[in-house]
Amino acid sequence: MQPVHIIGAGLAGSEAAWQIARAGVPVVLHEMRPAVGTFAHKTGDCAEMVCSNSFRSDDDEMNAVGQLHWEMRTADGLIMAMADRYRLPAGGALAVDRDAFSQAVTAALQAEPLIQIVPGEISDLPDEGNWIIATGPLTSDALAANIRAETGTEALAFFDAIAPIVHADSIDMSVAWEQSRYDKGETEAERRAYINCPMTKAEYEAFIDALLAADKTEFREGETAGYFDGCLPIEVMAERGRETLRFGPMKPIGLTNSHKPEEKAYAVVQLRRDNALGTLYNIVGFQTKMKYGAQTDVFRMIPGLQDASFARLGGIHRNSFLNSPTLLDDRMRLRSRPNIRFAGQVTGVEGYVESAAIGLLAGRMAAAQAQGNDLPPPPYTTALGALVNHITGGAEAKTFQPMNVNFGLFPPLEDVKSGRRGRKDRYPAYTQRAKHDFRTWLTAQ
Ligand SMILES: Cc1cc2nc3c(=O)[nH]c(=O)nc-3n(C[C@H](O)[C@H](O)[C@H](O)COP(=O)(O)OP(=O)(O)OC[C@H]3O[C@@H](n4cnc5c(N)ncnc54)[C@H](O)[C@@H]3O)c2cc1C
Repeated sequence: MQPVHIIGAGLAGSEAAWQIARAGVPVVLHEMRPAVGTFAHKTGDCAEMVCSNSFRSDDDEMNAVGQLHWEMRTADGLIMAMADRYRLPAGGALAVDRDAFSQAVTAALQAEPLIQIVPGEISDLPDEGNWIIATGPLTSDALAANIRAETGTEALAFFDAIAPIVHADSIDMSVAWEQSRYDKGETEAERRAYINCPMTKAEYEAFIDALLAADKTEFREGETAGYFDGCLPIEVMAERGRETLRFGPMKPIGLTNSHKPEEKAYAVVQLRRDNALGTLYNIVGFQTKMKYGAQTDVFRMIPGLQDASFARLGGIHRNSFLNSPTLLDDRMRLRSRPNIRFAGQVTGVEGYVESAAIGLLAGRMAAAQAQGNDLPPPPYTTALGALVNHITGGAEAKTFQPMNVNFGLFPPLEDVKSGRRGRKDRYPAYTQRAKHDFRTWLTAQ
């Protein structure tokens, strides 16, 4: 049988290799480290965790990432098995001993007779065979250049300038209102496409003071090459002048507060729909390097967002990722070259767990293909299905930014209360439904 080739033995590539070998299909795993390094990796081990040592919440009843852990364990995932083996005490979170963890992943892959690990960088896009590219946020420059040549320069981002994303049901619509600037749009839905949060002069001044005073993170050495083309952090805009934001992303013109039509807002924060379900909204133009704690404090000063719950906070990092909604099909294959699948963070998911989960799915799909079968993605009522549905179709392609798994990606349930107060019923209902549907999907294979 022809082997599946994987480029990159990170979180995604390691999990994909394991899944393929377990299905009885040979694998060649290509990894450029340690001969070619990145600014963040320190070792030559597989599945190195480059920053924190946390796989986040392990609560598979009330938390979407905990549910994703459950699905990966149920699908015999190597990454979860080794994370469990080298678990450290961390309350409800799954923290791991990072060195022991990646050494154990490496040893498990080396011990598997169907896996061959081949050192070296791969720079070209393969013309034939069954390939998975799992080269992560720090994909080597030569390969990134060739991906860009194939997909177009706009379709592979080098930087992730993320505006915070808010759960729609946590926005106070007795303060905010729906309206596009100057009521632009052909349809009623287009004319109401944005959610607007008004500010008085005093609120705006207090907001600018908080922005300027907030704790920020610094770029790492080597991270900034090619940065700052039109995606300034909001705090940098505020540093350039107290009025800059009011003439930029917070301009109030063309908008009328439907709750108080006679009152002109001094500034307006706009949120734009972020997924087809309409459950998530991003704050327009609010990419930021503020620390996470500071972000929640500062953004909850915005009228209408005082109780906001964030699906993800803002950030700006070096991160190579594809515009997957336009480039990949629902089997995660490049539409223009279906012999190549992508997996991991380069597909536009974010985080160790999500990357490994997409590796798990890509590995199973590639193994099925090698055996002459076709594996559909899990239903999008599951955590893995919701995530893959988001990157290959559910997300807005124009504003596509990397995404963590969260309940906002799950199709809503009928007969369960929405809003913050409904969570204690809604979240267990989501995870119960996910477990049932994931088991059904697995047993059909
Ligand atoms: C600075 C930084 C900090 C981060 N902090 C966190 C965090 O705290 N928590 C979190 O959950 N996530 C964090 N992330 C995101 C994290 O990198 C991903 O979640 C995860 O590592 C992605 O897994 P992956 O397998 O897609 O990529 P990686 O784990 O990066 O694996 C990709 C592999 O491909 C190899 N490779 C690249 N190009 C080639 C090539 N041309 N040929 C052969 N091999 C190649 C690389 O050497 C690497 O081993 C961070 C990312 C960065 C850059």
